Amino acid sequence: MKVIFGFAFAIVGIVACSSSNESVDPTTTTNTTTLPTAFKAFNSSLNAYVDGDYVVIKSTATPDHKSPYFGSSNANYEAYNGTNSKFAINPNRISTQNYTFRIPITPAKASSPQATPLGPIGVSLNGVPFYNQYAGPNTPLTNEINSFDQYNGHPDPSGTYHYHVEPLYLTKTKGTGALLGFLLDGYPVYGPVENGKKVTNSDLDAYHGHSHATAEYPNGIYHYHITAEDPYISGSGFYGKPGTVTK
Ligand SMILES: [Zn+2]
Ligand SMILES: [Zn+2]
Repeated sequence: MKVIFGFAFAIVGIVACSSSNESVDPTTTTNTTTLPTAFKAFNSSLNAYVDGDYVVIKSTATPDHKSPYFGSSNANYEAYNGTNSKFAINPNRISTQNYTFRIPITPAKASSPQATPLGPIGVSLNGVPFYNQYAGPNTPLTNEINSFDQYNGHPDPSGTYHYHVEPLYLTKTKGTGALLGFLLDGYPVYGPVENGKKVTNSDLDAYHGHSHATAEYPNGIYHYHITAEDPYISGSGFYGKPGTVTK
């Protein structure tokens, strides 16, 4: 009996020891030790870490720029000052979310690509979700576009702020050809300019991407580009097998 007790105690000791060696608490600490280089581009205010075959990104989906959608009593409120004369604010206001994106570290082309869902299809470097080219099931963005604020985002009825098109604050601060985020399938999303030339839909495949070397992936990678024309970010679904997003 004594021997068994001692043995059990030793196991507890080993378990406790190994867990104290890994004292990084992924819920409160950003563990960048094994984060792939490209994923280090996320704002440091986001919690990004590796969990098995996935990069996990936790986001409140609150933009790091001003917006009329913060509501006039919020410090981040800024009245609309964009260029769309038809701008009409929608009734929704930004509210803090609690999103967990799980994105494959090693993306792989899907054998039968899936359509993108309504709601988040990826996450931009400031934590704001990317949404697809629809306002509702098979409904184009036509009317929604007039509610995009000066940075091209707006909140949905749940208060989730999101981008369907070029996130103007990011392309202004990071560059029009810069890495801007990732879709859920793990493939990166780049801006609308490449090698000094505007990317158009005709430069891209049905999923709205193509493959070549980029600054973050010198050996080449499939990547999406945001263009000025519908479908803007993603085309006929995810090129790769998507991870998950929960809140
Ligand atoms: Zn929307
Ligand atoms: Zn490209």
